[in-house]
Amino acid sequence: MEICVQCEKETVVFGPATIKVGDKEFTLETEYCQGCDSVGLTPDNFRQIDEWGNALPTNVAEFQPYLPTKIIAASERYAKQFGLKWAEFVKACTTFYLVEMTKEKEFKILRSEVLAEGTDIFNSAKQKVYVPVRYRLFKQLQLFAEVWELHETNVIEEALLFCVTVLESGMSHEAEKAEFQEFLEKFSMAS
Ligand SMILES: [Zn+2]
Repeated sequence: MEICVQCEKETVVFGPATIKVGDKEFTLETEYCQGCDSVGLTPDNFRQIDEWGNALPTNVAEFQPYLPTKIIAASERYAKQFGLKWAEFVKACTTFYLVEMTKEKEFKILRSEVLAEGTDIFNSAKQKVYVPVRYRLFKQLQLFAEVWELHETNVIEEALLFCVTVLESGMSHEAEKAEFQEFLEKFSMAS
């Protein structure tokens, strides 16, 4: 047997190992440690997990963000305007924020400006909501949660605050607003 890089015991074997992805589990054949249960995943294993996850017809996790009631009301109004269910609208915001906005050259400044503005506008009591997500968005949330050192739930809260603030803002974020409206129209047609 090989030596485990985690616990340094000679207890690494090849066989079926179970990986947790959100609330789901996936079993694959790989090297794992019988001592500490750590699994050594190869690039090929990651591809297998992606293939499985992307093909899943169900959500893999449900997050429970706390949102200001003012932002819930505003987002319900926008969801309706774009012909989306509320949870779909939240997913559209999260995808747009993580996939499109983070690519902006001035993202760091934009992020702190818009979030500060939004925190002032949507200053009200908070309420717990439920946001179920599919594999692809789950992976994006995980990635940014790690980079920003936040919980996935906080990433959703931030994405929604950013996007709704951009929609509500007058002249201050015209370019982002136009980009997001276009994105919502495409998202709405695809869903
Ligand atoms: Zn080990």
